[in-house]
Amino acid sequence: MEGMIIVLETSITEKERDYVKNYLSSQGFQVREIVGEKETVIGAVGQVSLDQRSVELLPGVARVIPISKPYKLASRELHKEDTVFNVGPVTVGGSRIVIIGGPCSVESREQIMAAAHAVKDAGGVMLRGGAFKPRTSPYSFQGLGYEGLAYLKEAGEATGLPVVTEVVAPADVEGMAEYIDVYQIGARNMQNFELLKKVGSMGMPVILKRGMSATINEWLMAAEYLLASGTDKVILCERGIRTFETYTRNTLDISAIPVVRKLSHLPVIVDPSHGTGIRNKVLPMALAGVAAGANGLIVEIHPNPEEAVSDGPQSLYPEQFLKLVNDVEALAPVVGKEVARLPENHHLSAAVDETVQFSGDSCRVAFQGAHGAYSEKAVKHYFPEDKVESLPRESFPDVFDAVLKGEADWGMIPVENSLAGSILENYDLLNMNPDISIVGEIKIRVRHNLIAHKGVKMEDISEVRSHPQALAQCDRFIKSHGLNPVPAYDTSGAVEDLSKEPDALTRGAIASDEAARVWDMEILKDGIETNPNNYTRFFVIGRKENVKVTKPNKATVMFEISDEAGSLSSCLALFARHSLNMTRIESRPIHGKPWSYSFYIDLDVPEEMADFDKAIEEVDGAVSSFRVLGLYRV
Ligand code: PEP
Ligand code: MN
Repeated sequence: MEGMIIVLETSITEKERDYVKNYLSSQGFQVREIVGEKETVIGAVGQVSLDQRSVELLPGVARVIPISKPYKLASRELHKEDTVFNVGPVTVGGSRIVIIGGPCSVESREQIMAAAHAVKDAGGVMLRGGAFKPRTSPYSFQGLGYEGLAYLKEAGEATGLPVVTEVVAPADVEGMAEYIDVYQIGARNMQNFELLKKVGSMGMPVILKRGMSATINEWLMAAEYLLASGTDKVILCERGIRTFETYTRNTLDISAIPVVRKLSHLPVIVDPSHGTGIRNKVLPMALAGVAAGANGLIVEIHPNPEEAVSDGPQSLYPEQFLKLVNDVEALAPVVGKEVARLPENHHLSAAVDETVQFSGDSCRVAFQGAHGAYSEKAVKHYFPEDKVESLPRESFPDVFDAVLKGEADWGMIPVENSLAGSILENYDLLNMNPDISIVGEIKIRVRHNLIAHKGVKMEDISEVRSHPQALAQCDRFIKSHGLNPVPAYDTSGAVEDLSKEPDALTRGAIASDEAARVWDMEILKDGIETNPNNYTRFFVIGRKENVKVTKPNKATVMFEISDEAGSLSSCLALFARHSLNMTRIESRPIHGKPWSYSFYIDLDVPEEMADFDKAIEEVDGAVSSFRVLGLYRV
């Protein structure tokens, strides 16, 4: 047997676990422990003949599953959840899209520094640049070598961007380590096994490019070499393969992305630059890669592409790179992802006091609902996934309470859905809690799923429970399957309840994919919402004392006006006179004052804060009650 997965009992003692690991090592296996949310497994790989039953009999072992694929450590059989790891401050994998930019080659100190700033300013999170260039012709530029590495390191440090560069010789692997954060194995070296073993043994992150004529299997076997040699931080990179087509430099194999994402737990990124070789084909293929499920992009950008010593024709101008980042940002929620950011480029860093280290050790964020709620998804997308602790609360007032009492640093509240309109309760709560301020916003796509117990079939289901809004959004599906809709308090709560009733085999619940995962239930049908253009906008809220806005670009204000002719229009005219763009207006009846209304308005905040303050002062004087609910950055 070349590889197996040993699933451990949850009750296993430390001693028993050590015994299992030692036993496997003594038999000649390489052993990896993988701690998942649900279960801990041990992966054992090696060329060993051993009867599976001798492992099954060990105390604390639940079951043993042979790995059927030729690659073991790279296989999703071994590691069901996506691999997520950090490269410096950047999280790679999972729901983040990592955008890496930089020139093909490091050409000079000035060139790589200018490129680094262009990447950083546009929102990229890592810097690439080759110092050892594997060129087709021995007469072409071969790279600056260690001098180039020193410039690359300096540019990375000046901008805070982790750096990635190609390694071509086993002899350089150790010497390069002090200059870089990520090794790149180039397409030409994908099957240079001695290089793979040496690089893997460093335990550092590696980008493994697909060889120009490598099959997906060969590519994953190359990743297996890296993993078996000692690193668990491997990023696969699709960069185009050799086909009969010569118009483009290579043929970018977009279909490899969903294939590999299914076969492996490793993050997959796309290189649309080498994939096409043509500058104006980079953006569409970058978007295609993200749409196909890529976890990131590596793109060539040059401060002066006409003067580039290598790959100029495929290198983007800085402004094209900016457009690419912006377009990917717009596409990301459609595929349920968020563009990764450096902590200092995070929206929230514009709004918080330095005493509140959201990017520090941890942050606690309260949300309404059970684990797996859409609000929790928003929490995980907005905050650094590896540092945030999400705190479920029963109701919206409980979320505000948790923030006010300091049980949570922040709260995540839905305020508007693209189909159902405003969640007015949260506007009221904002109005009633002057010590709370809006500090940010995020939009996520709402994709509903029919969730049931494992093994239950569609035809078994007769009743479906969820939040009334989710039921309404799936009414076509519910009707066409003749299901009986039953309202529940919240979406993920309906899944939690169902999970606690193992005999409820004729009932389903509608909620997020996360809810199915968290409560260990099965998705029977995904994407069952009638209208796929279903987005929810959330506000991030915090205690006012923690908020010190530095560069806001958006504001939400509330005012009440007296009941007389023209009072609203004269107030709105003030915004217009000061050229403040209103992006949204919402009215709300005032409790205890029938036929009086408060208005909630979202405004774009101009660069010059003084202009905004002046306008606000005038409006304040013209209305009966006025409050800024938050100044934030989107
Ligand atoms: C590069 O990234 O500059 C490079 C040489 O890529 P590849 O190995 O994919 O050709
Ligand atoms: Mn190149």
